[in-house]
Amino acid sequence: MLISGLIGVKEIVMADRAGFCFGVKRAVDAIVNTLESSAEGAEIWSIGMPIHNPQEVARLRAMGLQVAEDESAIPEGATVLIRAHGEPRAVMEKLRSKGGAIVDMTCPHVRRAQERAGALSSQGYDVVLLGDALHPEIRSIMGYVDGPVDVVADAAEAGNLPKRSRVALISQTTQQEELLADIAFVLVPKTGELCVCNTICKATVERQEAVRRLAGRVDGVVLVGGKESANTAKLRDIARANGMDVLWIESADGMDGGWLEGKTKIGIAAGASTPQWLITDVCNKIARM
Ligand code: SF4
Repeated sequence: MLISGLIGVKEIVMADRAGFCFGVKRAVDAIVNTLESSAEGAEIWSIGMPIHNPQEVARLRAMGLQVAEDESAIPEGATVLIRAHGEPRAVMEKLRSKGGAIVDMTCPHVRRAQERAGALSSQGYDVVLLGDALHPEIRSIMGYVDGPVDVVADAAEAGNLPKRSRVALISQTTQQEELLADIAFVLVPKTGELCVCNTICKATVERQEAVRRLAGRVDGVVLVGGKESANTAKLRDIARANGMDVLWIESADGMDGGWLEGKTKIGIAAGASTPQWLITDVCNKIARM
């Protein structure tokens, strides 16, 4: 998308894939529908932030959503929404025992990673997960593995793993395919049988490719997304690796006039957890500047 006629900045070029992915949109729509259709005073909870975007979470909270630190804080009989990252099997069992409705919005791509990890573990594979050990999606996938499981963030960590006879390598959905391939390359010589599951979701890859396509076309990229969002952090890394100057902001309030100085063509990219209204706000703010 080209917007011309702005002062200083002459053009804004939107990344051709930006903002809410299928899984996040599905989860947010379900939260809004549940909040709007529930009786007044009904308790509607999520475990942890339903998406990695503080502004969108504030909007949902204002509509009545309550956010618990963990499953122990969910009251008996309350409705609980499971976010796109999913929850470990044990947490789901505890929630069922509380007797409330469960609206399970685990993204189908995450569900597939949970099921592959669980099935391959029960077939005798040691599971290696590529991802961030502290990320809720990795914790939810680990919660479906009964046998040995390791989490690695890069090829160096994979290199520290012991030799094994059977390994299943599975990825957090937001990782980069090149990194998954690098780790498979490291594991091949130290594994008798290696099963690689590409569980990286297309939405992530599409947003990454859209950022790469901005390289050479713009003087800088404004990246809109929550600072806790792993997939937005990946977009920043990709933009920088492709030589682009990046301004990562959560909302239009973070827009920095100084950063725009000397730039005539600005790219706009956004993580998969960024709602359209925040992207529009940022475009409008640049236009006003
Ligand atoms: S990024 Fe992919 S896996 Fe994650 S919620 Fe979106 S569609 Fe699902």
